[in-house]
Amino acid sequence: MDAGSNRWSVLDYIRVGVRGMPPGSLGGIDVTYRCNLRCRHCYFIKQNHREELSTEQWLVLFEQWKKEGFPFMICGWIGGEPLLRKDLVGQGRKYFKSNVIFTNGTIDLPPWRDVTFSVSVHGTEEYYYRMTGAKKGTYQQIKENVDSPGLRVFIAFCITRFNYTCIEEMIEEWSKTRISGIIFEFYTPMKGEGDGLWLSWSERDRVLDRIRQLKKTYGEFIGVSDRIYRLMKSETARKVTQDCPFPMIGFSYDPMGRPKVPCQLGPEADCSRCGCILPFYSMVLTHRRLLIPEFGASVLRRIMKLANNGLANGRPGARILDGTG
Ligand code: SF4
Ligand code: SF4
Repeated sequence: MDAGSNRWSVLDYIRVGVRGMPPGSLGGIDVTYRCNLRCRHCYFIKQNHREELSTEQWLVLFEQWKKEGFPFMICGWIGGEPLLRKDLVGQGRKYFKSNVIFTNGTIDLPPWRDVTFSVSVHGTEEYYYRMTGAKKGTYQQIKENVDSPGLRVFIAFCITRFNYTCIEEMIEEWSKTRISGIIFEFYTPMKGEGDGLWLSWSERDRVLDRIRQLKKTYGEFIGVSDRIYRLMKSETARKVTQDCPFPMIGFSYDPMGRPKVPCQLGPEADCSRCGCILPFYSMVLTHRRLLIPEFGASVLRRIMKLANNGLANGRPGARILDGTG
């Protein structure tokens, strides 16, 4: 498990490990209602947003949240395409300890080393065009855009009936770039929607088993823990999502700064077929029995990384102490 950018200190991890995540500690803000793509699996387009707050209005809201004791821990900047509003994300990210920018990768990534970019590429070139309907050349343009030294980039791959066959090829291809890894989630249909994009439970289980197997070869390049993928299997998934733990610790806001319920996917999402990693990630964060081993591994990895950075700088472990790692 990783909180995203680098403003979490080891102390933050320990505090969360001991006390758990406070309400409102993890969530998403719809930066804009606009997007330059029209993906076939997009839930956001179906929500029909038509207006958005200005940067100044958002900053007023953040200041108000500060007075109300909002924890400002992990924020996902979503949309629409959030990089259409670099000004808002650039200023807003400074309020949060950890930021993940969910972009479609078609706009130049800003040189922000304190965030994680989650770039949607839902398949190898042929599958990508089937999913997004983007104009030819876009796939290669994204690849050049995200293969950038110094930036922390993950690829977000939403698994649907249209693209599940290219998972291995995708990992093989992108593992040769400078990205940090790929995060696989499944498509979440809206209520009453048929199975056109959704995989059946048995198909989904087989895909999860294959991803877990591939994790043995590719390790953390597949950026979700084995524990979370195990929870996503059919024998546990429905138990988790029928009483989704995300709203206990999460927040979701639309482009006008209004709360969205129960999550960013909105009230029409079919929780019984949710494919998002969020409920499973939230399950781990709200259950000490799951959290301690997950966080233990994460803290250990972080300590090792910080210690290595310190050694590389000739200051063994110094960055652990000043909390800037
Ligand atoms: S890039 Fe994202 S917001 Fe835009 S259409 Fe695709 S899924 Fe929707
Ligand atoms: S299960 Fe949770 S994350 Fe999934 S759609 Fe429902 S509320 Fe949202």
